[in-house]
Amino acid sequence: MNGDGLTVRDLRVTFDGFTAVDGVDLDIRPGDLRFLIGPNGAGKTTLVDAITGLVPSTGSVRFEGRELRGRPVHRIARLGIGRTFQTATVFEELTVLQNLDIAAGAGRGPLTLLRRRKEVPEPVTRALETTGLTGLRDRPAGALAHGQKQWLEIGMLLVQDVRLLLLDEPVAGMSHDEREATGELLRRVSGERTVVVIEHDMDFVRSFARSVTVLHAGRVLSEGSVADVQADARVQEVYLGS
Ligand code: ADP
Repeated sequence: MNGDGLTVRDLRVTFDGFTAVDGVDLDIRPGDLRFLIGPNGAGKTTLVDAITGLVPSTGSVRFEGRELRGRPVHRIARLGIGRTFQTATVFEELTVLQNLDIAAGAGRGPLTLLRRRKEVPEPVTRALETTGLTGLRDRPAGALAHGQKQWLEIGMLLVQDVRLLLLDEPVAGMSHDEREATGELLRRVSGERTVVVIEHDMDFVRSFARSVTVLHAGRVLSEGSVADVQADARVQEVYLGS
C-alpha cells in the first residue's frame, strides 16, 4: 500500500459566488474508514465531487503523492479512485459475474466485454468473496435486493484496483441486517484500501467509523474518533441547535 493516503489542502468550491466548500483540509491515512458527516447543505457531496474532479475547485488534493486537481475525471479515476452514488448503477440485465467482469475489463476495450471465459479471473473471485455475492454470481443484477446491488457496485470498484473508495450514503434505504453486512464489508475493504463514506445514519457511523470529519457550512467543524466528535460542543450545537 502506498504510504500517504489522501491529503486535501485549502480546498474551495464556489457556485456563482456561493462558497460550498470553504477552505477544507483533510488528512486521511491509507486504510482508514473515514465518515463525512454534517447537516444537509454542509458541503459533503461537493467536497467529494471536487476530490473526484466533477466540479472545479482551488487548493490541493493529493492521493498517493499525486496531485489530482486539474486532471479530468477519467484520469483521476485511473489513479485508483472510485465513487458510488446513492442509486447503484449496475447493468440490470447482466449477471453479477458479468457486471464484475465488465468492470474488471473497463478501459481495456469492448472486445474484453464479449470474451467468453471458462475461468473467473482472480480479482473477480476475490470481489465476489469480499462482497458476499459468490452464491449469487449467476443471478441478473436486476433481481438483486437493494443492499446486494450496492455491494455489487462496491465489488465493481474492487476489481478495478480502486484504492480510494468514496461512497455516498451506501446504507440509505437498507434494512438493519443489510446495514450490518455493509458495515462489515466496509471494514473488510478498508485496511487494504482507503474508504471515505458520506453518511447521515449516526447509528451506522457509531458502529463502524474508524474516524469522523464533521462538515458545517463548507468547513471542517470537528474531526477525530466518534467519541471525540460526539463530545465536541460545537458538533452538539450544529446537530441539536443547543
Ligand atoms: P451536503 O452533501 O452536505 O448535503 P452539498 O455539497 O450537496 O451538501 O451542498 C452544499 C451547498 O452547495 C448547498 O448549499 C447546495 O445548495 C450548494 N450546491 C451544491 N451543488 C450546487 C450547484 N451545482 N450549484 C449551486 N449550488 C450548489
